Amino acid sequence: MIIILKQDISLHDKEYLRSFLEEKGFKVREIIGDHETIFGAVGNISIDFRQVEILSGVSRVIPISKPYKLASRELKKEDTIVNIGRVKFGGNRVAVIAGPCAVESKEQMFKAALAVRESGAVMLRGGAFKPRTSPYSFQGMGEEGLKILKDAGESVGLPVVSEIVGTQYVDMMKDYVDAYQIGARNMQNFELLKSVGKMGMPVVLKRGLSATIEEWLMAAEYLMAHGSDNIILCERGIRTFETYTRNTLDLSAIPVVKKLSHLPIIVDPSHATGLRAKVSPMALAAVAAGADGLVVEVHPDPDNALSDGPQSLYPEEFEKLMRDIQALSPVVGKEIERIPANRPINVRTTDEASGNIDKNISFQGVQGAYSEKAIHRYFGDEVNAIAKPEFRDVFESVLQGTVSFGVIPVENSLAGTINENIDLLLRYPDIAVVGEYKLRIIHNLIGLPGSSLQDIKKIYSHPQGLAQCAEFIENHEGMEGIPFYDTAGAVEHLSKLNDPTCAAIAGEEAARVYGMNIIKESIETNPRNYTKFFIITRKDRAEYETPNRAAFVFSTSDKPGALFSCLKVLADNGINMNKLESRPIHGKPWQYMFFLSVDIPEGSKAFENALNALKNISEDLRVLGKYKVD
Ligand code: PEP
Ligand code: MN
Repeated sequence: MIIILKQDISLHDKEYLRSFLEEKGFKVREIIGDHETIFGAVGNISIDFRQVEILSGVSRVIPISKPYKLASRELKKEDTIVNIGRVKFGGNRVAVIAGPCAVESKEQMFKAALAVRESGAVMLRGGAFKPRTSPYSFQGMGEEGLKILKDAGESVGLPVVSEIVGTQYVDMMKDYVDAYQIGARNMQNFELLKSVGKMGMPVVLKRGLSATIEEWLMAAEYLMAHGSDNIILCERGIRTFETYTRNTLDLSAIPVVKKLSHLPIIVDPSHATGLRAKVSPMALAAVAAGADGLVVEVHPDPDNALSDGPQSLYPEEFEKLMRDIQALSPVVGKEIERIPANRPINVRTTDEASGNIDKNISFQGVQGAYSEKAIHRYFGDEVNAIAKPEFRDVFESVLQGTVSFGVIPVENSLAGTINENIDLLLRYPDIAVVGEYKLRIIHNLIGLPGSSLQDIKKIYSHPQGLAQCAEFIENHEGMEGIPFYDTAGAVEHLSKLNDPTCAAIAGEEAARVYGMNIIKESIETNPRNYTKFFIITRKDRAEYETPNRAAFVFSTSDKPGALFSCLKVLADNGINMNKLESRPIHGKPWQYMFFLSVDIPEGSKAFENALNALKNISEDLRVLGKYKVD
């Protein structure tokens, strides 16, 4: 049963309730949500709910109708985020696990690890115990294989997962893996589920060859009832009458599981299809259907693999697949998960003068702003996003060292450059750009809880938010857009107005932060709406190692062909330009600075050469930052 606690429940009443339930034989889980705290009480005990409902501090008691309780969405409305090392599964992420079917040798595993890491996988796989159909097939390297897997993962900074095939290996494996995998053939090995559950470690739970979704969720329930909360469900195809593919990939399981359970669900297109050529299409289909991630078999030499070679991708194919996933994810409101170490690249995160400030990152706006979302997408959920009223305050906080980074929007794909921030970069020579991040902007119509589309007359938002949703507003007679200084600020304003005929346009975070309701999702005219953010830090804290992008400014003399000859230098050195913008120079009417962003070619001195040549023919050349983009 689910016990919803009153918001003002005292600590004493809470503890009394917990011990009351435990004495009756229930297992109790406390779940703290955004808006309420609940106790989930499970156990094979029948009790009159009214006995609980009358206890002090209890708001309501709701029975859970499904046979699986801890795994059910009824118990927990928010998505579970599974943390494995620095990597997260669930929420709006697409996290990709990759590696060979089996660990075969140190050389093979290290090569595989490097390749999948470079393409953007966040976790390494490799089987050491292989449950093969034939007893004569390669059975895996056992503990020796696990050692290699762990070393390979450490060599590239990836957590690792490997399949456990029997209860006798539970203890031994815990020292080698970051997550256990329970394979399709063992999904209903209840003794194994109990033993692995007791470890409390993350588990990737594959769907059984012929398991129904309910049986699969019951297997997750076993793990959870014995102590494991961090479970990732993995759809890997089921047995049907079709024989062309190894199994039949049940992609409809993704939305079904998402409705029934709060656990993340990933897809294994390799075992599902058994055919290399079918892996990438089904991987993309899985992402499009809302999967929280993938597990893909990748082998450095598939033609000589000891197991599952025909379904293993070549590293180049995997690299291409990852690029496609990166392009596709924003379409379904997701972002590809990256290893956080990739992010504040080459930047020292402690500041001698002001102590350890690495977790503080500033942005302009109020809580729930798109910039705040960009901070968490780029740096992870653990950092503190510090709101500042003006863009200038973001620069000042970075300069003064009260934060380690600032995140500022510099360009929107529909509305163009945010000139104020380019000008601030010019005005603050001690600030450097050390990264960039592109966020898909999804505008939602947000109203008071209970108000519906027909009620809305006034819509508050930043002028850009209103402009980007103009078609929606025009198509709804009687609606009027009212400019506000900020999108998330408009939602805060809405919550104070408390008028059911008013609404705001902003991101979903803002709705959550201010307890408002999304009336209609994604109302922007053009869904290809992205904002590019720069990550800025103090110049003396930035270190540049292997950057692949640079932002710089220069001005030119006032004579024919001056800008042309500067750009020619870039062309002659094979440097690709991704942005060119002219900005007026303050105090010098009708004179301009040029702001550029370019790609730095790998493994050559082309960029340095171009910069040296530019210094000779331009004026006031200044590099604003060199950094790495994924
Ligand atoms: C595997 O992932 O190596 C494997 C054997 O998968 P499944 O249990 O899905 O067949
Ligand atoms: Mn395999």
